[in-house]
Amino acid sequence: MTAPTLTTATTPSRFSDLSLPESLLNNLNSLGYLEMTPIQQQSLPELLEGKDVIAKAKTGSGKTAAFAIGLILKLKQSDFGCQALVMCPTRELATQVAQEIRRLVRYQQNIKVVTLCGGQPIGPQIGSLEHGAHVVVGTPGRIQDHLRKKTLSIARTSTLVLDEADRMLDMGFIDAIENIISHLPEQRQTLLFSATYPEGIKTLSQRFQHQPVEITVESTH
Ligand code: ADP
Ligand code: MG
Repeated sequence: MTAPTLTTATTPSRFSDLSLPESLLNNLNSLGYLEMTPIQQQSLPELLEGKDVIAKAKTGSGKTAAFAIGLILKLKQSDFGCQALVMCPTRELATQVAQEIRRLVRYQQNIKVVTLCGGQPIGPQIGSLEHGAHVVVGTPGRIQDHLRKKTLSIARTSTLVLDEADRMLDMGFIDAIENIISHLPEQRQTLLFSATYPEGIKTLSQRFQHQPVEITVESTH
């Protein structure tokens, strides 16, 4: 008689428990990302199924890699139109997010991640966009400027991320966000990441997400 087999946990806990491409797994390994953080464990399986996700977890919990892996896996290398748009409240955050996406996607050649933030000259940004961008990360005001100038098209963008959505609302970006979303296709994946969950976030989710999966990771302290 064989001993009864132990049932394994149903929630994947390591990146290697997900069916990710070998090249991405190797890259994650080289970055020292082996175990997923709780928000990654809960949101990645949903993200990878293409669902809309609203995720709340404290700062420093690895939210960037969660949405970055989700969007990276959908990228088509041959399409230089903006396939994924990530909005962040500040230039500093947008720069960090763009850096993290670049690190995570470095196993793929020729994927361009362009940062569009205010307080910086617009000329070089236009130049970068002319060469094509698979992913655009930026602040709402400057993204809007580029849409007005028609130097950016998001008409075929299939992933939208609102990162630190609570802070963007606090900073009064709601009109800009709404305007930007009106340029996006209806058919898209919308991901909303936040550290807190005020009423405004719920409204935003109801207006712009489609049957979102809600994920909350409570802080332990
Ligand atoms: P948040 O957006 O939730 O504030 P970040 O995405 O900025 O958090 O991540 C915080 C830190 O954790 C970053 O330095 C990032 O490199 C690191 N990190 C993210 N996911 C993992 C992981 N699975 N394993 C190890 N480090 C990770
Ligand atoms: Mg973050």
